This record gives sequence, structure tokens and C-alpha cells, in this order.
Amino acid sequence: MKVSRRDLLVWSAGAAAGLIVTPVPWKLLDDTSIWSQNWPWIPQPTRGPVEMKQSVCTLCPQGCGMRVRMAAGWPVGVAGVSSHPVSRGALCPLGFGAHQLNWHPQRLKTVRHRGGASAWGDAQAAFAKACKEGPVVVIDGYPGRAASSMLESFAQKHDGGYRVVLSAETRALTPYEKWSGVPASALGYDLENAKTIVSFGAPLLDGWGAPGRFTRLWAERAAGMNDPQLRLIQVDESLSRTASRAWQWVPVRASAESALAAGVARVLLEERLVAWRGPMPSLTLAEAAERTGLSADAIRDLARTIVARTPAVAIGNGIDPEIAALNVVLGAAATPGGIVRRSKRGAAYVPADAAMPSVRAALIDASVPWDFAPQTDAEVFRFAAWDGGSSRADWLLPAPGFLEELMDVPTAPTLAAETYAIAPSLTKPPAEVQSAAQFLGGIDPSLTPVDKIIHSRCGNLFHARAGTLIGREATPVAKIASAQALEEQLQKGAVWVGEAARPGGWRCELKEWPAAASGPPENLTATWSAPVLPPLATKLYQESSLREMPARRNA
Ligand code: SF4
Repeated sequence: MKVSRRDLLVWSAGAAAGLIVTPVPWKLLDDTSIWSQNWPWIPQPTRGPVEMKQSVCTLCPQGCGMRVRMAAGWPVGVAGVSSHPVSRGALCPLGFGAHQLNWHPQRLKTVRHRGGASAWGDAQAAFAKACKEGPVVVIDGYPGRAASSMLESFAQKHDGGYRVVLSAETRALTPYEKWSGVPASALGYDLENAKTIVSFGAPLLDGWGAPGRFTRLWAERAAGMNDPQLRLIQVDESLSRTASRAWQWVPVRASAESALAAGVARVLLEERLVAWRGPMPSLTLAEAAERTGLSADAIRDLARTIVARTPAVAIGNGIDPEIAALNVVLGAAATPGGIVRRSKRGAAYVPADAAMPSVRAALIDASVPWDFAPQTDAEVFRFAAWDGGSSRADWLLPAPGFLEELMDVPTAPTLAAETYAIAPSLTKPPAEVQSAAQFLGGIDPSLTPVDKIIHSRCGNLFHARAGTLIGREATPVAKIASAQALEEQLQKGAVWVGEAARPGGWRCELKEWPAAASGPPENLTATWSAPVLPPLATKLYQESSLREMPARRNA
């Protein structure tokens, strides 16, 4: 019998259809998942007493409250803390599986030098030698911690530089630094008092800021209402999860957010819909319409809708000076329901990706995202708890993993009020690991160690007698008996919350309309300090598309 090409095609189509309707592939999938749960490297927790501890997630700067289930001294499960003033019971998929991370096969446990095995003594000698030979730069991914203070002090004492990798949310606030002189780290969004939020691609309902903050606000003030108290207008190229749940979705062409912000600002100024008077965007309405793919009338309608219910605030996804300028036009800078100054302090940081002078060595803290590569030929000392794949670092130095070290948790990037919490070391780290702060303390013993800095910060909070300590119940700091009692409560998972930001206190001067943003929108998961995902998070990501899987992360 002659078999024609057409017969083959028909047969293969039938086989493919048959394979889908038979249970074979699904059974194979099921078996694979059962086998994979019995791999020999999967840790079996030892039997022992089970207890619940309260702490804070330190895997990114959002600092979500966590209840940690401990068995025989090991974390075996985590859950959110509903009384936590910021995360309000929510955790992101990484946080939900965080207890699995310390056993991840890509956990770093030994010192490596250019791919080969090495030892801490060699790394310390190499770094000490580099410090004698020239300036060093220290790079931090989670500024404001007690450990950050040690990193910064070391850099200052050794004629080096201190640079930071800021979160996308903080970077979105950096244009105001130039126009007001107030550091981005001292600013936040007063979302709780806003009535209209225009999000230019920021995934507000899908991973922006602390997971529970906006989702809870949305559930209370908008979800399911035809005329909600809080209007969310989502400007997005596609019908994202946030766009699909927003009050209004404005579809625009890719990377056209800046142009739309300029177009809206032009309408607001031309039609005198706002009180602000200042420079006009250089982009005409016709140009904005062409770039965004919207009609000029649609941009006009959007501008009128935004000011129909104020306070209104615009939120961008990363640095976009035109979106920041739109906030100045809207009068959202320094007003309730807009951008507020949450702290009189706050440091102006030098970003890690700014041009770097010639340095002899670069030390990268474990909080810096794995994908960050310093633009320097210097010898690179990279701390990390997990190996994220190829790296240009000369030295890979194993750092403490999830809840293996004492850390303090400064205010999360987007908040309107200051907060402070402590994540105690709940589990013993492997013998081979040490943090960058410990490493630098070994080289320069005159540096104040992390526990002493935390102790002194607690003392300062107590003596200021301001704010409230939120644990099982809310207690004004003025009613707490001693600095020691305050520190003990913080060590047990309580959170200090400062006074709400007062209106005013800073002013933006926009002398000329800024240039358009360059570069693609930011990836919010880039600030996660873990370059790997625990199995639970992988399942959540891949099976429910909760958030797009970063291309370079490994399961
Ligand atoms: S990784 Fe960040 S957002 Fe996720 S639970 Fe931890 S602190 Fe919260």
C-alpha cells in the first residue's frame, strides 16, 4: 500500500487529537509531580515541638508581616498577619513559599573564586588588599537598614562610594528630588486619601507596593461599585490583571505612557482645568494622539475625568519625569491624597547604575538583585544566598538565607507614613555563611555591629515618644514603659508606625517641562533578593499567571 504525504498528515493529526483526549499525558504529568515530591534531596523536617513566631519578610523592601510555623527550630510554613498595618494579611507568591528557599538546590553554601572553591580567609585577604590598593564601592539593594548603615560607614571610612539599587516604586519618585530637594526615600503616596488614581502601567492590583495595601483599599472603596469612592484609571498596552479590574482601562500603544501624560497635562493647562500655571509640555495634543493611538477627544475626555473627582494622583512604573510633572500640574505634589513627605530625614542616594568612577573593587550586598551587574572592571565581591546562574563576579560569597539573620525593616517604598520593624534570626544559618555587614565588620572591627545599631534605633524611637506600636493591640509609644520594652515588642513582630504625613512641608518647582522617559517599563519582581523561586511560588506563577515569570529566574 502506498502511503502518501496526505495520509501521514491525517494520521499525525489524528494521533495528536487522540493523545489529548486519552488520559495518558495527564497521568504522566500526575506521576511526574508525585515522583518529584519524593526526590531524595527534598528535606524531611525532624520531629520536634511546633510553634508560631511572628516576623517580617525581608526578601524585598515591602516588609510584609509574617506568621512563621516552626518545627524543631526550622520554618516549615508561613502565613500573612492580618493585623500588620501595611501588608494587612497579604503576602506575594514568593513570600508564601519563602520557608522552602533555604533548602533550594541552588543555595550557596561555599565561597567561590572565579568558579573554583575557595575560603572566607582568602576572600577577606583579597578584599582587605583591594581596600589598600584603591577606592572600593559598596552596593546596597535595601537601603535604610542597620546593615546598610554599616555598609555606608565602611565605604565612607575607606574613601569608597556607597551606591544603591532602588525599587521601581522609589525610582518613580526620584524626579521630585530635582524639583524640590526632598530625597525620594522621604516621599510616599497618600493613596488612602486619593479619590482618583491614574496608573500609567503600574500594576497596582498585581504586585505594586506591599501586596495587601492597595488590594485592601480597592476591596473596601471600589470593588464591585458602579460609582466607587476611589476611581482607578489604568493606562496599559494590554488588558492586564489590574486593567481588567480597574474602574476604567485606557489602552495605549506600547511605551506611550509618557506621551499620554504630556497630552493630559496639555489639556489640563489649555482648558484651565487646574489651578497650576507653569511650563507647557512641548508635545502637541495631535502628537500625543498619534503616539498613544488614542484620539485627541479621548485624551481630552481622560483629562476631564481625572479632575472630575479630586484629589487625583498619577503613578508611573519606574522613572518617568513626564508622569511626575503631570502630578505637579494636578497639584498632587505635597497635598493629601497625592505625593506626601513622610519623613524629615531620608537620604539622597547615588544610584548604582550611575556612571562609576574607577574603583579597585566593588562589594555587592545580598539584597542587590542578582541580575544587577556593576559597570566597572573592578574586582567584584558578590554576596548572595542563592546562585542565580551566570555571574560576572570574581568572588561569590554565601550569605544568610530566609530569616537566618537579624535584620531591621525600614519604611517600605510607597508608604505615606514611616514604619519600623525587626525581623529576628529565627533559624540557624549554615556554618559557612556570613552577611556583607559581618564580613566588613571582620575587616574593620571599629564598625558598629547591626544589633547595636538596631538597639540604638529602638532607643531613638522610644525617646522621641511619637507614633504607635502595633502588635496584638495598638499602643502609643508615649505609653510604653522603656526602650527595652519597645525593642522586645518589635522583636516579637510588632510594627512601629509614625505620625501621618502633614500636608505641605515641601514644594516642587518645575521650571521647564521634562524630557520623555527612556527605557522599557520596570519589572517589580526585580527587587526580590532571591534569584530563585521556591516550588510553591513557581506553581503559583506558572499555573495561575499571577505575575509574569521573570525570564531569568529559575524554579
Ligand atoms: S517578597 Fe516582598 S512583597 Fe513578597 S511577601 Fe516578602 S516582603 Fe512581601
